[in-house]
Amino acid sequence: MAPYRTPEYHPAFEEYCEAIYELNEDDVDVIQARIAERLEVSRPAVSEMIRKLEGEGLVAVDGRISLTGDGLRLAESVVRRHRLAERFLTDVLKLSWAEAHKEAGKWEHVISQNVEEAMDKLLGAPTTCPHGNPIPGADYTAPVSSPLGELEVGSAFVVNRIPEELEFAPGMLEFLESADILPGRAGVITATSPDGTTTVEVGGAHVGIGAFASARILVTT
Ligand SMILES: [Zn+2]
Repeated sequence: MAPYRTPEYHPAFEEYCEAIYELNEDDVDVIQARIAERLEVSRPAVSEMIRKLEGEGLVAVDGRISLTGDGLRLAESVVRRHRLAERFLTDVLKLSWAEAHKEAGKWEHVISQNVEEAMDKLLGAPTTCPHGNPIPGADYTAPVSSPLGELEVGSAFVVNRIPEELEFAPGMLEFLESADILPGRAGVITATSPDGTTTVEVGGAHVGIGAFASARILVTT
């Protein structure tokens, strides 16, 4: 993909387009309330910014909020830089997942095209971020996967993807990293409970994963 270069958009525009893109990716309804939660800003601030983005031709509002072609290209370039930066921060600099996610939120706005290309080359053109989320513009084909919480006791699985929604849940990445629930790790479902908690065995350790995360972590079987 030819990287999309915009005429220097305000970081806030990038932030909003990215949030809309990622909510969509996780099948969350894109309405102002969800954007406010994701970006931790007030509802009035969101509605003001959405009006500006509409004026710039980056979003369209029709009950729900969607990206226009230009908005999508801007979002893809920001998400690409975010996910490449995460890879660099974890694979090369050995930062923790949680730190990398936070730090990449700043890098995504300042990485130039040259740096982006150099990073991509150094990293061997990765197709996903360390959490398994596809890097826009990379040649990624998602495997057939299902939410961890839908598996039956005794099922073996391989962790495939920790969706962006979980990356934003406070403490979640720290928890998953310490429990070794990382893309590529193999495990077995050892118990399920009516409250939606799924207990898994990964690397000899048993860990209970709550309903919110179990419904979202994608695994292959
Ligand atoms: Zn990530």
